[in-house]
Amino acid sequence: MEGIWVGLVVKTLAIANQKGGCGKTTTAVNLAACLAAAGDRVLLVDIDPQSHATLALGWEPSELDRSMHDVLVKADASIRQVIRPYEQIKGLDVAAGSLLLSAADLDLNAVAGKESMLARHLKQLQDQYDLCIIDCPAYLSLMLVNGLVASDYLIVPVQTHFCALYGLKRILETVQVLRRRLDSCRVRVIGMVLTFVEEKVALSRQVQQQLRDFFGELVFQNTIHRNIRLAEAPSAGQPIITFDPKDRAAVQFNALAVELKARIHRLVGEGV
Ligand code: ADP
Ligand code: MG
Repeated sequence: MEGIWVGLVVKTLAIANQKGGCGKTTTAVNLAACLAAAGDRVLLVDIDPQSHATLALGWEPSELDRSMHDVLVKADASIRQVIRPYEQIKGLDVAAGSLLLSAADLDLNAVAGKESMLARHLKQLQDQYDLCIIDCPAYLSLMLVNGLVASDYLIVPVQTHFCALYGLKRILETVQVLRRRLDSCRVRVIGMVLTFVEEKVALSRQVQQQLRDFFGELVFQNTIHRNIRLAEAPSAGQPIITFDPKDRAAVQFNALAVELKARIHRLVGEGV
C-alpha cells in the first residue's frame, strides 16, 4: 500500500451521523491515528463544540488560546495558526475545537459563502497532508454543513442498536439536500462503520445483518466492537494504538484504516 497517495491531492473525510454517542469521535481520532502511524500525513479537524476529539488527544479545549472557531469566524485567520502536532504520532496534526463553535451559526449568519468557510481553509493545505479527517457535530448546524461541504467522502459510524437507522437516515437525507442545493457540495458516502458491536447480543447481530442486507458493500467489513479500553483511552489523551497497542480495538481500527485506504484508492482510480 505504500506510495498510495503519490500524485493525489489531499482527500477530505467527514465523520458524521445525526445521532450522538454512536462513535463518531472515537472513529475520527482512531482512524486518524492509525493512518498517521502507517505513514500518512493526517490532519484531524475538530469542528464539534463538544470538542471531544481535541480532549481525547490530551488538550483541554478551554485552555487553548485559539481554535477552529477563530479560523472560521475571523476574516483574517489562517488554519495554519491552530494546527498542533500530536507529539506521540509522527504525521498526525490536530486543528482543535472549542465550545465557542456552538455560536458559529450566529457568528457567521450574515457572511456570504458561510457553508464553505472550512472548505476554503482546507484548500490552503493542499500539499501538506494526504488526508484530512473532520469530526462533525451530531446536530444539523452550520458546522455540520461546513464539514460535509469541505469533504470528498463521508464515513457514517453506526451503533448496532435498535435506533441506529434514525440517525443514519437523517444524515443521508442531509447529504442529498446539500448536494442538490449547493454546487460546491460533492460529498459522497464512502462507507458505514458498525460500532459498539456485540457478537453475543442478538440485537447487535440483527442490526448488523439488516444494515449489510440493505447497504451491501457500503458497510465496511471491519467492525468496531464494544470495548472498555476504547472508552478509557481518551482519559489518557491517547488513541488506542498508543494507549494499548495489543488490544483488540487497536487491531480493529488498524484493519479498518487499511480497508478505508483501499476503498479511497479504488474510488480515486475510478475518478470519483
Ligand atoms: P460521538 O462522537 O458519536 O458522540 P463517541 O465516539 O464520543 O461518540 O462515543 C461515545 C462514548 O462511547 C464515549 O465515551 C466513547 O469513549 C465511548 N465509546 C465509543 N466507542 C466505543 C466502543 N466501541 N466501545 C465502548 N465505548 C465506546
Ligand atoms: Mg463526538
